[in-house]
Amino acid sequence: MNGSSLMATSFHSSTTDSSTRHVFQRIRHELKRRWATVIRRENLGGDMLRLTFGGPDLADFNSPAFDDHIKLFLPADDTPIRSAPMDALVGRHYTPRYYDPATGELAIDFYLHETGVVTTWATQAQPGDEIVIGGPRGSTLPPNDFDWYVLAGDETALPAMARRLEELPAGKTAIALVEVARPGAEIPLPSQAAVTVIWVHRETASDSLADSLARLQLPPGEGYAWIASEASAARAARQVMIEQHGLPREWVRASGYWKRGESDQHVKLED
Ligand SMILES: Cc1cc2nc3c(=O)[nH]c(=O)nc-3n(C[C@H](O)[C@H](O)[C@H](O)COP(=O)(O)OP(=O)(O)OC[C@H]3O[C@@H](n4cnc5c(N)ncnc54)[C@H](O)[C@@H]3O)c2cc1C
Repeated sequence: MNGSSLMATSFHSSTTDSSTRHVFQRIRHELKRRWATVIRRENLGGDMLRLTFGGPDLADFNSPAFDDHIKLFLPADDTPIRSAPMDALVGRHYTPRYYDPATGELAIDFYLHETGVVTTWATQAQPGDEIVIGGPRGSTLPPNDFDWYVLAGDETALPAMARRLEELPAGKTAIALVEVARPGAEIPLPSQAAVTVIWVHRETASDSLADSLARLQLPPGEGYAWIASEASAARAARQVMIEQHGLPREWVRASGYWKRGESDQHVKLED
């Protein structure tokens, strides 16, 4: 693989000693910073905006895993980006929603929350505007041999969840639990897999993401849970999957994708 190196990690089933089940592939990529230019903007509904980027630097972009993350770099003030020193730019994590190697186009879906350097920029971004993109640095490819998958998160996780559901093959079973602000903020989540989508409305529901996960009836067999949300909500959701639903820790991947009152947070929840 060009500019990338591959490792495989097997998390054995607790009921079989086969080392060929549940193998997670880890890929390291050469870390690059690339200039990217907005070529399209598209309102996805809810509070989600898609910006599609192009430009010669994206020709060798690579994002093999649905929860890959890149860093978007921008000036914190009105300085034109080409005049700002690289080390003065601020960075925020985002998910490559899709990359088309044929056209070199990269789409990123932005949740437009109340305030923030990137959110403000994205809200106003027009074709021709430029940004610097770093990464992805590494990818973890989950295996498709679990009996079922749970995906749970808020709007910041929606791009990764939508990508995972799109990439899951037919014959697989998934439950997606998505927290959005209010009724009407849902977006389509197409998949070839058998998917149950449950929407949780933050502004009106009394239940948190963790409460909703706790009430889930999980399918039989071995499952894998992927969770990303505000950090404390993701921590509580992870505990439910481990303590209440009994998933082995290594079959739960949970992250805080943002932290209330703080900027540029990525909290990996492991113990
Ligand atoms: C691995 C990873 C992948 C991510 N992928 C995506 C993605 O594809 N799309 C996406 O929209 N976001 C994604 N996020 C979340 C995004 O990085 C944060 O929301 C980020 O803080 C936004 O930057 P900002 O400059 O707009 O706000 P900041 O300047 O970072 O924050 C300003 C203020 O807004 C608050 N804030 C930040 N995010 C939210 C939020 N979601 N809701 C309410 N308040 C918030 C902060 O706590 C702070 O008080 C991802 C995060 C990680 C770690």
